[in-house]
Amino acid sequence: MDTLIENLRAVVGREAVLADASELLVYECDGLPQHKYLPRAVVFPQSTDETAAVMRVLKHAGVPFTPRGAGTGLSGGALALERGVVIEMARMRRILNIDAENRTALVQTGVVNAHVSRAVSHLGLHYVPDPSSQGTCTIGGNIAESAGGIHCLKYGTTTDHVLGVKVVLAGGEVVELGGETQQAGYDLRGVFIGSEGTFGIATEARLSRDYSGGGSKRLRRRTLAGHWRRTLD
Ligand SMILES: Cc1cc2nc3c(=O)[nH]c(=O)nc-3n(C[C@H](O)[C@H](O)[C@H](O)COP(=O)(O)OP(=O)(O)OC[C@H]3O[C@@H](n4cnc5c(N)ncnc54)[C@H](O)[C@@H]3O)c2cc1C
Repeated sequence: MDTLIENLRAVVGREAVLADASELLVYECDGLPQHKYLPRAVVFPQSTDETAAVMRVLKHAGVPFTPRGAGTGLSGGALALERGVVIEMARMRRILNIDAENRTALVQTGVVNAHVSRAVSHLGLHYVPDPSSQGTCTIGGNIAESAGGIHCLKYGTTTDHVLGVKVVLAGGEVVELGGETQQAGYDLRGVFIGSEGTFGIATEARLSRDYSGGGSKRLRRRTLAGHWRRTLD
């Protein structure tokens, strides 16, 4: 009997821990298939509390962890080195709150990027960061990579659209970085975004939603074209 696996199952339930070699094969690589590392187990927490409890078990056992969203990353960030445990966020995909007035949404980080825009489209809004993988990739993965897409050329990448993030640190401590209002002191939210899963596990994020599609009554955009003979004109 593997005590670590039993301890993890005691936290999240038997079905939420994969430890069979054939099941683990799915998680041996991400979008960078040249590198493969078989994890010791894959755990699927459903809440911040469960994630924190999992981290405490891993810390106690001295086992490394790797957070994972949809595994579309192209830099090997979701690989479990040294037979570590993958913390898979796929079950944490709820949109917890939509604040239409302030154009923000509180989401669990396992939610798929495109599902956020889908949830607010009836308000004439969408979530700006739009990596080409947006039909699959998660907000957590986007935060870790500060992902961007074509709209980001004009409106900024993930770091410009995440107001705050709830993070479970390696020892199981839960911290809130940033928030709806600007805070004094170091921008730890900004440090976390783009840290490729190395600082902890983002479990919830407050997103700002901007810029409607063409059909919105709230905001209409027009393109103006001008022609000059010389750039100095
Ligand atoms: C076809 C295709 C097109 C793509 N197009 C783009 C593009 O246009 N722009 C772009 O920027 N990227 C693009 N990517 C790369 C990739 O989709 C992005 O990096 C995306 O943000 C990864 O999200 P994911 O959920 O798949 O994360 P994963 O691949 O699962 O993980 C990526 C990193 O995030 C960490 N991580 C995951 N979840 C969390 C969490 N909750 N807390 C902390 N760390 C976490 C992981 O440990 C890992 O380091 C593309 C990839 C593919 C395959």
